[in-house]
Amino acid sequence: MTDVQFDYTQQDATGQSCTAHAWAKVPAPLTPSQRTALKDRARALLQQHNAVLVAHYYVDGDLQDLAMETGGCVSDSLEMARFGRDHAAQTLIVAGVRFMGESAKILSPQKRVLMPDLDATCSLDLGCPPDQFAAFCDAHPDRTVVVYANTSAAVKARADWMVTSSCAEAIVRHLHEQGQKILWAPDRHLGSYVQRQTGADMLMWQGDCIVHNEFKGVELELLRQEHPQAKVLVHPESPKSVVDQADVVGSTAQLLKAVMTMDAPEFIVATDNGMFHRMRQSAPTKRLIEAPTAGNSATCKSCAHCPWMAMNALQGVIDCLERGTGEVQVDEPVRTQALGCIDRMLDFVKANPAAISQPSRGFVPNIGAA
Ligand code: SF4
Repeated sequence: MTDVQFDYTQQDATGQSCTAHAWAKVPAPLTPSQRTALKDRARALLQQHNAVLVAHYYVDGDLQDLAMETGGCVSDSLEMARFGRDHAAQTLIVAGVRFMGESAKILSPQKRVLMPDLDATCSLDLGCPPDQFAAFCDAHPDRTVVVYANTSAAVKARADWMVTSSCAEAIVRHLHEQGQKILWAPDRHLGSYVQRQTGADMLMWQGDCIVHNEFKGVELELLRQEHPQAKVLVHPESPKSVVDQADVVGSTAQLLKAVMTMDAPEFIVATDNGMFHRMRQSAPTKRLIEAPTAGNSATCKSCAHCPWMAMNALQGVIDCLERGTGEVQVDEPVRTQALGCIDRMLDFVKANPAAISQPSRGFVPNIGAA
């Protein structure tokens, strides 16, 4: 494997830490009366503008509740885009990060897609700039380009395939069996996991998610000793030392399903702590324990909560509906090309349901993305 080093979490173009910039924009906590007033206002505006709110599992619990109460959805990134495409509303409010808004626009070009804060991004997206990625692809024309859903529309437009965490293994195995060599981007941990499962020849872009990268194998081992009955749930975007200890490795939707259906009283969960809101609502009798991260120190950029997801707030929903701010635009040639790699994945999944449902270890069959 060839490593491509690219340090993206230290500085942005202005010389500031990207995560510090994001944390500075996270809204202050609301009082109960403020929360009620803002929720009522947002609810009325959604109705007035014939808009639907689609929210990711990692955003603030108030936004998740508002989405569910108003006929929207709370889900993973691909399901958010599919839900928005299939809903009658002509305006989609996407509470999540920018690549999710772009995916919604790619699948629903005729609809208006608004976001509470367009600056909400993702370390995987930030760490894979389209121009550098295109140069990487150009340097390896013999490889099939496979990218994870957590990428910009421009990066998807350069790819042959898009994959989510659930179908990545099946698609890479399929390509490997055809003798194809893979160029993989951007998540190095998910890529390594898929490489271990399939034995494929994979050249890796070296990106990672600042939330899942921070879970610690040694501390997890100690926590498991304290809770010997607990099942361990992780995303494949975590380091190998964490994934190796998992009872279930899967996407957000898959980990939620595991908490609801597995016969265990407690779970250690290595995910963004925004996810616990929906898990607690869906499985109120189960005890959920947060997996250990680097801790609240200078070495911890996220402490198990994504700063860009945290930028989403009720006020942002109100602002984008009242003032039309945060509209997502994707150039038509880019959109059409990006749609090609998404459609290829959807066609593969439809044609190969058996391949998707072969679990490697507690992998709950489904399509999904973290
Ligand atoms: S949790 Fe990780 S993968 Fe998800 S948006 Fe944040 S940085 Fe990106």
